[in-house]
This record gives sequence, structure tokens and C-alpha cells, in this order.
Amino acid sequence: MDYRNRKKGKGPYYIFIFGGVMSGIGKGIVSGSIGALLKSAGFRTSCMKIDPYLNVDAGTMNPTEHGEVFVTYDGMETDQDIGSYERFLHEEISAANYMTSGSVFKTVIDNERTLKYDGRCVEVVPHIPNEIIRRIKLAVKKSQLDFLIVEVGGTVGEYQNMLFVEAARMMKIQNPTNVAFILVGYLPTPPHIGEMKTKPTQYAVRTLNMAGIQPDLLIARAQNKIDEKRKEKLSIFCNLSINHIISAPDMESIYQVPLELLRENIVKIILRHFNLSIKKDLKKSIFLKKWQELVKKINLRSALKVRIGISGKYFRSGRYTLSDSYISVIEAIKHASWANNIQPEIIWLDSEKYEKNPSLLKELAYFDGIIVPGGFGSRGVEGKILTIEFARKNLIPYLGLCYGMQLACIEIARNVLNLKDANTTEVDPNTKNPVIDTMPEQKVFLKEKHFGGSMRLGQYLCDIKKGTIAFKAYKKNKILERHRHRYEFNNQYKSIFESAGVIFSGINKERSLVEIMELKNHPFFLGTQFHPEFKSRPLKPHPLFQAFIKAALRRSKKRIKKRIKN
Ligand code: GLN
Repeated sequence: MDYRNRKKGKGPYYIFIFGGVMSGIGKGIVSGSIGALLKSAGFRTSCMKIDPYLNVDAGTMNPTEHGEVFVTYDGMETDQDIGSYERFLHEEISAANYMTSGSVFKTVIDNERTLKYDGRCVEVVPHIPNEIIRRIKLAVKKSQLDFLIVEVGGTVGEYQNMLFVEAARMMKIQNPTNVAFILVGYLPTPPHIGEMKTKPTQYAVRTLNMAGIQPDLLIARAQNKIDEKRKEKLSIFCNLSINHIISAPDMESIYQVPLELLRENIVKIILRHFNLSIKKDLKKSIFLKKWQELVKKINLRSALKVRIGISGKYFRSGRYTLSDSYISVIEAIKHASWANNIQPEIIWLDSEKYEKNPSLLKELAYFDGIIVPGGFGSRGVEGKILTIEFARKNLIPYLGLCYGMQLACIEIARNVLNLKDANTTEVDPNTKNPVIDTMPEQKVFLKEKHFGGSMRLGQYLCDIKKGTIAFKAYKKNKILERHRHRYEFNNQYKSIFESAGVIFSGINKERSLVEIMELKNHPFFLGTQFHPEFKSRPLKPHPLFQAFIKAALRRSKKRIKKRIKN
């Protein structure tokens, strides 16, 4: 079909992003980047992720399987790509912008059980794609969008996402002028050949063609820029004009991607496709200006570094170390560091190692700051508690996120309050000193094995006490932060903790829940029951991460001074 001569259309417009060749090539970053650019060009734009697995949401998956579980403000446990969208679009994404095959099938089956299909035979096609399309349109309506970028999870050619591909094809037939398809393909350069190869991407395009879809644009991800010769090849074999093949080489930082895509004229190409003209001059965009300044800061090679250790357990995958499970934490550290014109050196700490050999703990003195992020279950917990004890006693700035706050409380209970058997009932249900315990409603969920979507999820209000580290950071007395946990600080222990120098600086008044704890007489020791990392943005680093990095920077400066003296 040739849409070139049609009249100016009317929105909303849908851009489907598919991935070819392999996973992990940055489809989410590309989707977020295109979103940010279209937003800067004056269009109300958002992104949506559709994930192929049968889990109803991402909440029940182990992070080593799936990466981080990102929580939206309205309490949905989603894929880490939603986090990327929030960071690139610089705005909140709602639960409406996320679906899985599981959630779609569940709705269709529930509809069938309640006779919503008027006695018709309910079939995989069209009923499943129709439900997918209904949700896509709902997301557009909810946010009154001009553009929705729909990222289809997985890689083309796999069984799992076929129904999403089918939904995209059906949307195009229903609305030919308002739908565009982009394929993000990978072009490997095998070291023994030394040449960039196009064939895997050609196959990916063919596979899409077999599903009835011709991409309008190809984004060629590769180690290096794609040259004219390979563009010509792809143009012939993939049925695309040369200027619809966009180069997207590896960048030092993901935040360079929007600027790189802009340089490749992606905005013009997309707008031309929809026969639209730009609403705002991109050269005058304040957002893009700020973004350019950010990239400059990222590329600053300052001699000063802060060494941050993250103690976790979700980063081993066979012989490889993956940081996907803690992506928002890592990004939040980077955002806060860049804002201070420094680079962080992030090192993974395997908490189990310290359990087996506590004499290794002294190596932690290397760090300017230590973080214990969110986690579940008992593996590695004792090692994390030892790590926290070391940070507390050696005055190393400490930031505990969710489990990291709970374990800090256990450490203080055991080693300061002398409650040697203090624990969380998550690890020891029979402990005599349950300083971390569940709320009554959670006890019912656990008994009924009702695990999916039943934690304390999404944003809640928290009151901040004046004169505390938290207040100094936030500079306000009411905040909203996102949660994902079942256990809470046990208020029966509040007064003895306070007598030992603990300040409960953040409280949810509605239910009297401890949300932030901090220590007196320590350069920076603070734990949050919520996950501040979900709200950190490159252009707006999170205040608590900023305060933590500033404390780490002070330690790093002292360290350097000492070295010069010696
Ligand atoms: N496992 C703890 C809880 O469920 C902490 C959860 C987390 O760190 N996200 O309360």
C-alpha cells in the first residue's frame, strides 16, 4: 500500500516495535527514546509493553529469570522496560500500559465464563488479539495520546508472541494510515570474520513478512555504525528504502540513544510516514537541551569516583554476572552521581561469600557507600546483615532499600539492642523477637498461598519528620513513594529502637507504618521500606540517592586526602 498521497490523517497513531535476531538489544531503550523525541516534537506520547509470558504480571518471577520487577505508581508489578520508559519520557507510566499473555488470556476466559461473548465460540484468533487491541486503545484513551509506542516483548519468530504480532497486523488492517511497524534487528560482527553480517536481520524481516507484516523502518543495532554497503543489502532483501534503515550502534551510555536517533532523522521519517508535521521545533526543545547537558555530564571523565558496593544475590547467571535485577538501583546511583559531576564505580558484593568467610568483610572498607537493595527469602540474608554491621561500625554511608531497611533493623536489634535472635518472620517464623513481621491481611494471603499481586504495592503517602536526614534530602514533609513488600517494621519495638539512637523519620500515618529509619551519630545510615529507585530520573535524580552519593563523596574526598598525605 502507498500512503504517500493521502490527506493529513487524524490520530491517535500507533507504532509497534518488534525485536529481531536476539533479545537484549535495547528495544526498550529504543522505544523510550522514540517516545521522548516525539514528546519533544509536541505530541502527547507514551509507551506500552506487551510481554509474551503466561504470568499474569511480573511479580511472581525470580529476577534472575526476568530481571527487575518494576512497580508502577498504581501498583502493577511490571517489566523493567516500563522503568526505562519512565526514565526516558520523564513521566509516570500507568498499569494500563502493561500487559502479559497471561493477563489477556485471563480476561478472555473470565469473559467467557460470564457470558460476555453471547454464546459464541471463543477462539484464540480473533478473541485474544481483540482483547489486546482493546487494551492498547484503552491506554491511548486513558492518557489522551497522539502517539502510543507499543513494544512487543520477545523476538519475532517465537511462538510466545505470535498473538501480539497478529494483533498488530489486525490493527493495521483496521486503521492502515495510523499504524507503523519498526523492527529493531541485530547485526553481529563475529570476531573470526571481522565483518558485519546482515543475514540474521534479513531472516527476522522475512519472519515478520510471514506473519503479514512489512516493517516501515528498520533500526540496525550493532557494535558499530552500519555502512552504506550493508544498508544497500538490507534495502534489497528487506524491501525497504535505504533511508528507512537507521543505524543504532552501541553507545557508552543508553542516554545517548535519543540524540543519536534524532541525528539519524528518525522523527522526520516517522512524521513523514504519518503525513504529519512537527508541532514544536526540536532545536528549541528545553527537554532536549537538558538531555544534551546530561549526556555531556555522563561523558565527563572526572578523576573523582565514588565506590559503591551493592550486596545482592540476583546477579549470577551461569558463568555470567547480570545486573538486570537491580537496574533501577544502578540507574538511580548513576543519576545522582552525574548530578554531582562524578562517576560511580559500582561493584557487586556476593553476600553469601561473607557468610562463609566473615574475615573477608574487611574488604568492604574499600567502599564509599554500601547499598542493600530489595530481596526475598533467606538465602544470603546473614551475609547482608554482616555487611550492614560493617557499614554501621565503620561509618561507611549505608542505604537500605526495602529488605535493606528490614535487615538493618535486624542488625541493630541483634548487635545494639542485644536481641540475639531478632529476625524477620519471613526467614524465621518462630523467632521470639520478630522485629520485622507481616500485617494481619498478609497473614491470610500467605496462609491461602495467595501470592500473586498481593503484596503492599504501589505508591503510598509518607510523612517526614523535620530535622532528619530524610527531611534534609526531600525538603518537604509529605512524599509519595512506591512499595513492594509483605513485611513491615514491628511497632512493638519502636521505643527501644528509639532509645538506641534510631530515628523513624518517615511514617505512613494512615496505618502507622515505619517507612524510613535512620541512625544518629553516623555520616549516613538510612533505610526505606519503599523503593526510591523507581522514581529516580536522569533529569531529576532521587533526593535520597543524592544525599547518599553526597555522603559517599565526602568519604571519597577524605580517602584521597589521606592518600596524598601519606
Ligand atoms: N522480602 C521483604 C518483604 O516482602 C522485602 C521485599 C523487598 O525488598 N522488595 O517485605
